[in-house]
Amino acid sequence: MSSHSSVFNHLPIRLRGEVIEIGAVKLNDDWTPGEEFQIYVKPVYFRKMHYKVKKLTGIDGNKLSDACGFVDAFSRFREFCGDACTFLTWGYDDKGILEQNIIVHDQDWDWISGWINLQLIYNMQTEGDKNQKSLQTAMEHFGIEQTRVAHDALGDAYNTALVCSHMDMESGLADYADMSKRLSIQRRKRVEAAEAGPEPLEHLVFEGFPNRNAAFADEALTEIECPNCSAALTLSRWVNQGDRRYMTLASCPEHGDFLIRVKLKYTDEETWSANRILYAADEGMVSFYKTKSTQRRKRTRRRKREKAAGRTD
Ligand SMILES: [Zn+2]
Repeated sequence: MSSHSSVFNHLPIRLRGEVIEIGAVKLNDDWTPGEEFQIYVKPVYFRKMHYKVKKLTGIDGNKLSDACGFVDAFSRFREFCGDACTFLTWGYDDKGILEQNIIVHDQDWDWISGWINLQLIYNMQTEGDKNQKSLQTAMEHFGIEQTRVAHDALGDAYNTALVCSHMDMESGLADYADMSKRLSIQRRKRVEAAEAGPEPLEHLVFEGFPNRNAAFADEALTEIECPNCSAALTLSRWVNQGDRRYMTLASCPEHGDFLIRVKLKYTDEETWSANRILYAADEGMVSFYKTKSTQRRKRTRRRKREKAAGRTD
């Protein structure tokens, strides 16, 4: 069924799919496969099985017609798991889809203490690259024979447990904790850098202009030196960005392009002041300037044409 169907409209999230089977294997203290759990789940939103899923899993609508609903199945799964459990999964997909189903069926997940993506531990311990390796690849790597049904929830869980038995899980989990901490610090730094924007090379304030035009007529403001070699920069056209903000590109034959931003302010002394900031222009800034300056030209030309045609707004 198309996910645009109206039955999805009242759901709090966009549901990508429904859980049709939960399979899990507990790990013993020595990381060998222990107690097993398996249950089929009857879907309620997606009523028709996608042929690819049917082919891959061998599960069709008939098999699920007598299955219990998600709420019932999930509570039995929780009973099996017990308190303070950590889920070890191959990849991130299981987490995403289970969380979506939990939300749609308004269930609790605070009893799940953590999720570990075993692919990362596998990559760290096999000197694999960062690409996602399939469970099949990991099984082959460790010489694990396929004794269960592949693409069956319990079969995959069992094979995943066997892969755990072959890895050094104690150091893997310790490294995993370090790695997620490192990744979240990196992510925060990236976000902060993106929010702060580029570092200006020069920031100057010019004061005491009687009006706006006087500011741009003053060479102090508009004759700009290269911050590296003091050569006079060649300026492109000033582009008015609105809100008393202007920008232009300036270039030094030896040191490349710089972006200049000017913000005019009307002061308490009833004069104008200009804030001028200079950045080393990266490709993004150059193309940003070019886009803005051509937009502006097109609009001006159109306005002129319209005026010539005697049109008024
Ligand atoms: Zn220069």
